[in-house]
Amino acid sequence: GKFEIADPLRTQAILAEHQIQAKKSLGQNFLKEPAVIDQIVADAQLTANDIVLEIGPGIGSLTEQLAKVAKQVYAFELDQSLIALLEENLAPYDNIQIIQGDFLEVDLAAFFEQKQLTGQSVKVVANLPYYITTPILLKLLNAPVALDKLILMMQKEVALRLTAQPGHREYGSLSVVVQTKSQVKIEQTVSHASFVPQPQVDSAVVSFDLAQLPDFAITDRSWFDQVVKAIFKQKRKNLWNNLLSFVGKNPENKAKLETVFQKLRWQHQVRAEQLSIEQINTLAQQLALIFP
Ligand code: SAM
Repeated sequence: GKFEIADPLRTQAILAEHQIQAKKSLGQNFLKEPAVIDQIVADAQLTANDIVLEIGPGIGSLTEQLAKVAKQVYAFELDQSLIALLEENLAPYDNIQIIQGDFLEVDLAAFFEQKQLTGQSVKVVANLPYYITTPILLKLLNAPVALDKLILMMQKEVALRLTAQPGHREYGSLSVVVQTKSQVKIEQTVSHASFVPQPQVDSAVVSFDLAQLPDFAITDRSWFDQVVKAIFKQKRKNLWNNLLSFVGKNPENKAKLETVFQKLRWQHQVRAEQLSIEQINTLAQQLALIFP
C-alpha cells in the first residue's frame, strides 16, 4: 500500500509527467519491481550507521528505499535532466544528497575528506549503467578510501565472469583481479522484465566484501596485474606460450622460463584457466625472481 517511487504506477506517472525518454547512451533501464529493490536493500545489510554512495539514481526508486535504512545517501547522477525531478521526489528525506556529475570523474579521496567519511562504514549500492560496469567496479576496488561493501546490479554475464572459479569457461583476468580485492558473491539474479525499458539480457546483484581478502599476500600488485593480463591474453594459447610472448621469445628466456615450470612442476600445456589465484600469485613471485 505504499505509494512510493518504486510503485509501478508512480514510476509510470513520474516518467510520463516529466516526459522522460530513457537514454540508451547513459544505460538507463529503470527498475520497476518494488520486490527487487527491497531485495537489493536487504542484500546490502544496511544499518542506521551506514553511509551509502549510490551511482545513477535515475528517478530515485532505489535511493528512496536506501534512505529509509541508512544514515545518509549520496547519489551521483550524470543526467542533468533528471536532477530536478530527483530533488522533487526525494524532498521528504533529509538524508539524501543528489550530486550531478560523472561518477568516474569523482575524486573519492577529496569527497571523503569533504564529507568527513573516513572511519565511517561506507557502502556502495547501485543499479549500474551497464556500459561502464568494469571501469566503475575497478575504480571502487582500487579506491584510495575505505569502502566496506559494494552491492552492484550488472549484466548476469558479467556477474558470472566476476565470480567464476578456476576450470570454468568464464574464469579470466577480471575474475582473478576482482577476487584478490574482495569476496564476491551473486546475491540474486533479476529478470530483464523487471526494468523499463527492458534490456536484452538478464541481470544479477553482486556483493563485494572488501574486508574479506585472500589469506596470501600479493607482494607486488603492479607485477601481479601484468602477469595476470599476460597469461589470459590469448585464450587459445597455453600458459607456456602466453608467458613466452610476455617475457620475449629467445633461447635465454626460454631456459629461464623452463626453470620456473620445473620448480612449480607444471607441464607446458597447463592453461591459465586451470590455475587458482594462489597458484597465479606463486607464478608471479617466481617470475619476479628470475626476470627482475
Ligand atoms: N537507479 C535507477 C534504477 O534502479 O531504476 C537507475 C539505474 S540505470 C540502470 C543507470 C543510471 O546511471 C541512469 O540514471 C544513468 O543516467 C546513470 N548514469 C549513467 N552514466 C553515469 C555516470 N557516468 N555517472 C553517474 N551516473 C550515471
